Amino acid sequence: MASAVGVLFVMNEFELIRQFFVEPTTDAMVRLGIGDDCAIVAPQAGEEWVITTDTLVAGRHFPLDTDAYSIGWKALAVNLSDVAAMGARPRMVLLALSVPDADPAWLAQFRQGLFDLAQQHGVQLIGGDTTKSPLLSITITALGSVASGQAIRRSGAQVGDYVVVTGSIGDAAYALRHPHSALQHRLDRPIPRVAFAQGLRGVAHAMLDISDGLAQDLGHLLRQSGVGVVLDWSAIPIHPLLAALPLPEQQQLVLSGGDDYELCFTIAPHAWPVLQEWAAQTNTPVQVIGQITAQQGLSLSCQGQISAWTHTGFMHFDSTTTSP
Ligand code: ADP
Ligand code: MG
Repeated sequence: MASAVGVLFVMNEFELIRQFFVEPTTDAMVRLGIGDDCAIVAPQAGEEWVITTDTLVAGRHFPLDTDAYSIGWKALAVNLSDVAAMGARPRMVLLALSVPDADPAWLAQFRQGLFDLAQQHGVQLIGGDTTKSPLLSITITALGSVASGQAIRRSGAQVGDYVVVTGSIGDAAYALRHPHSALQHRLDRPIPRVAFAQGLRGVAHAMLDISDGLAQDLGHLLRQSGVGVVLDWSAIPIHPLLAALPLPEQQQLVLSGGDDYELCFTIAPHAWPVLQEWAAQTNTPVQVIGQITAQQGLSLSCQGQISAWTHTGFMHFDSTTTSP
């Protein structure tokens, strides 16, 4: 039961859930949705489930002045991006919401952002928790399904593979540093590459989504695969607003900036034509940015010179990096 809410908003936790978060069940797999102690889901034979959770904290993962619609959208988007990065189909989510007050206008916008994106992908909200807290914080747990054994892991990259990224890299980091720019939507409303990613099963050897900076995230994939990469700086897709910046600043935003939610994956070179076709069919920009090497570590080829890139991306609890 919620503690006292503001005088203007006489609504307890259960009314709030009913008013904003209960929706009809559309996925036949959901035997029971919101309302009991637990949801009931009946998995299908031959499928595996991928399960992930991500928290967004106000002022930490989005600027304090971010509108409620964008917060709802982004809280779901970052989770769907993780499910997509496994090559899985997102199916259900749970929402743990901590809010300072039960402001109906804020909640209506928040739910709209979340449900708009959920509906685009046929994702069902099946439960959660609602608490009053001085700090706005949203935790979403996402469940996705994939044919048994078909999920794309970080550990499968092979020597000689092309390293491919979707979209352009560093846009969200630019938007964070330059509020109200033409790239603001890239920070506020990331679009998870859900449909495109599912076509990469059996094609991509390894994949992840870029949330904490290309260099750091790709570094995880390299380590887990026991390989390295030479990245071609000139091949990395960069928005013109970033390209106009001094080179060191560009490199900082592109390699260490967070919040892109683009995909980074590896494929055998012979798969490139097939990949390009799929990318065209799904309207997804793709670009080869480097090649996997037996020599471990991340090297950057820039202006005729190849050097090791050792800077990191964003890390919580690390005083040397800045918050996205
Ligand atoms: P319990 O006290 O048994 O944990 P709650 O009273 O917290 O149950 O929640 C009642 C129902 O509402 C449960 O089905 C729960 O999953 C769901 N629920 C609570 N908060 C949310 C939310 N923010 N979004 C979606 N479902 C929620
Ligand atoms: Mg509860």
